[in-house]
Amino acid sequence: MTARVLIVDDVPANLKLLDAKLTAEYFGVLKAASGPEAIEIATRELPDIILLDVMMPGMDGFEVCRRLKAAPTTEHIPIVMVTALDQSKDRVQGLEAGADDFLTKPVNDLALFARVKSLVRLKMVTDELRMREATGQRIGALIGTSTERMLMTEPGRALIIDDRPTSLKRMSEALSIEHMVTVAETPDEMMQLATIGDYDLLIVSLTLSDYDGLRLCSQLRSLESTRQTPLLAIVEEGDTPRLVRALDMGANDYLVRPVDRNELVARCRTQLRRKRFQDYLREKFQQGLELAITDGLTGLYNRRYMESHLGAMVDEGLQNGKPVSLLIFDIDHFKSVNDTHGHAAGDTVLKEFAQRISQNVRGVDLACRLGGEEFVVVMPDTDMSFAMMVAERLRQRVAEYPFKIEGGNELNVTVSIGIGIVEAQGDTVEKVLERADAALYRAKRDGRNRVVAEAA
Ligand code: GH3
Ligand code: MG
Ligand code: MG
Repeated sequence: MTARVLIVDDVPANLKLLDAKLTAEYFGVLKAASGPEAIEIATRELPDIILLDVMMPGMDGFEVCRRLKAAPTTEHIPIVMVTALDQSKDRVQGLEAGADDFLTKPVNDLALFARVKSLVRLKMVTDELRMREATGQRIGALIGTSTERMLMTEPGRALIIDDRPTSLKRMSEALSIEHMVTVAETPDEMMQLATIGDYDLLIVSLTLSDYDGLRLCSQLRSLESTRQTPLLAIVEEGDTPRLVRALDMGANDYLVRPVDRNELVARCRTQLRRKRFQDYLREKFQQGLELAITDGLTGLYNRRYMESHLGAMVDEGLQNGKPVSLLIFDIDHFKSVNDTHGHAAGDTVLKEFAQRISQNVRGVDLACRLGGEEFVVVMPDTDMSFAMMVAERLRQRVAEYPFKIEGGNELNVTVSIGIGIVEAQGDTVEKVLERADAALYRAKRDGRNRVVAEAA
């Protein structure tokens, strides 16, 4: 992972040290030696994350943090406050100023990279979300500007395992203020709950007395239902080897005993945000995909999808010397269905019609709604006589079985079908569509409820 980090400190030696560590890990580094300079650089350069010293002459870190979080251009940049050792009061003040996390001086490498990575990952998701929202608003989709806020108002569901009563009590109390907390008594129970429950956050002690916490982390990571769930590890001060393994196994972040409430709250918040935003994006993305290729009323492919695939189907047929047939359907006197029984009844007929089509074509055939009461089925490797047979079968399936509509009524519906076929080199999508359209026109003219094929 690479990212641009702005480091802010009034002591040149501190800047130099952090710069060296981050540069060695291939992060891009920007430096500021005072509060005002930090605001100026942050606003101009929009870094991915800011490491902000608390104690600075003139404008201190809290003030810088407050100002950056209050400005629309910089409010989304994660800020890590770099505090002096054991200044719990500083952390409370930092959280109130809007800080996202904390680092203690002297800065430990593991902590530094864990904080930076987890917050940069969050920012990547947030940026994506904001970008999609901007595009969504341009094309008129109804996603509110405050999606981020909306996503964070629901309390999260946290699942904790820790066999030290005092520490467990402390963590549960601190988290219960905003979230719903479940405590697992044993590793088995943890796995069971994690399998069935929909948790947003898993917190695992790496120092359980009769069980290997690392093994539990690895099991949680391999379980389908928790593979993506944020995982926080609780480690003993100085137990670096175990911590490194936990991070390697996919723990997203960690807390050192004795667990500081404010760190706990900040870290859980970061993880929860990332999960919420990611879930939201995934869902939107899938919805977007479906909306883009299918017709909302009937579930068949839409015109756009057909147009983008028809060319390829035609080319493939021509290349393999196999005919491709195209049927165009237009329901007869459909306007009178709407006029007599209402638009809703018309929709019901369209849905049922679409079902009858898809039930009577092969998996390789492409069935779509062109729009209104017009449908198309494209059939690869299908010659004229076979296409006639399929079309005739579909015509009968429509004409012979009445359509059920609201109120227990039944309607007789008929359809006219035109067939066009791709056979010769030089045939194009346009030509085939034209031929099928001409055939459909003849079917209508000759009395409807019939199939007509137009030869090349
Ligand atoms: P023809 O036999 O010549 O095809 O006559 P028709 O009435 O079927 O053809 P026309 O094109 O005049 O009318 C099509 C009607 O389809 C008009 C429109 O109100 C209706 N329609 C189009 N889309 C929808 C829809 O999504 N739902 C409903 N209920 N009606 C629709
Ligand atoms: Mg029509
Ligand atoms: Mg019609």
